[in-house]
Amino acid sequence: MKAAVLRGGQIVVDEVDEPVPGPGEVLVAVRACGICGSDLHFVHHGARFVQLSSEMRGVPTRPAVDLGRDVRMGHEFCGEVLEAGPDTDAPPPGTLVTSIPALQRGAERTSLSFTNDEAAGYGERMVLSASLLLEVPAGIDPAIAAMTEPLAVGLHAVNRSGIQAGDAAVVLGCGPVGLSIIAGLRRGGIEPIVATDYSPARRATALAMGAHEAVDPTTEDGVAAWRRLDGRRPLVVFEAVGVPGMIDGAMREAPRNTRIVVPGLCMETDVIQPVIGILKELTIQFVVAYDGDEFAGALDSIATGEIDVSPMITGRVGLDDIAQAFDDLARPDRHTKVVVEPHA
Ligand SMILES: [Zn+2]
Repeated sequence: MKAAVLRGGQIVVDEVDEPVPGPGEVLVAVRACGICGSDLHFVHHGARFVQLSSEMRGVPTRPAVDLGRDVRMGHEFCGEVLEAGPDTDAPPPGTLVTSIPALQRGAERTSLSFTNDEAAGYGERMVLSASLLLEVPAGIDPAIAAMTEPLAVGLHAVNRSGIQAGDAAVVLGCGPVGLSIIAGLRRGGIEPIVATDYSPARRATALAMGAHEAVDPTTEDGVAAWRRLDGRRPLVVFEAVGVPGMIDGAMREAPRNTRIVVPGLCMETDVIQPVIGILKELTIQFVVAYDGDEFAGALDSIATGEIDVSPMITGRVGLDDIAQAFDDLARPDRHTKVVVEPHA
């Protein structure tokens, strides 16, 4: 079958082995898979990511991704069940499903985000664990259902922040993570929600997703906009850009006691001035991903219409155009989320 792989730092489309479902697994046709910012980061900073992962202590070690071999990516997917593996209880063929991007084999959970040995979302077909499947209600566009994963990332950041009604929020960066955070904040009754982004298109999307104000940081800082609009409610700042200097900037602008929540995946060394955080008693909290309940909750919010993710989808491409889409996404003025549709 056909799949896009990362080979020697480039995204190439090639023929790959057909995935075969084992016991407890199902074969699905990938109907839609969103291109994630972390995939873009991995193309450029893969070696650093692998190195830092190997240096990390205090978490279970994962098998390292071998950049000398093809790397499969694509973790924001919606698929259609084709067949079940041996002795597997699975939804009937034709059912639309999604899943957290992992395989559960006994006690072992294998990530599908960056993998040498498994099929992932940027291909015609992939294997999923029956125990992790979530059925997508009939009538939902697979591209919309594929937004479950990025939405779950945003909802998790909001959950972990502990923000509550009566607080205010500033969201730095209106990519898919920032926009998903905005949707979660709006659902939680947070007011005002101030968004910042250089891109006019992304600021417009932020307003569509529930921000009360969206400002261009070259003309007005997000915290300054909060001061103009409100200036008294306890503030939570979400850093969803992930480039060096963002955390330092947020620390300098934030009022005393602000919480700064950081899902922005900065792959480079960054510098902060601890004394600023100390003098203002700031809290900095790093967050990643979601748990199974948050993932299921994100799908539910999409399916019931509680959260409309459609403003985030700015492009749809076939497998052959995926390398071009990676290039286009590097220019945030044109795109927010591009969805790959391998069979469209
Ligand atoms: Zn993602």
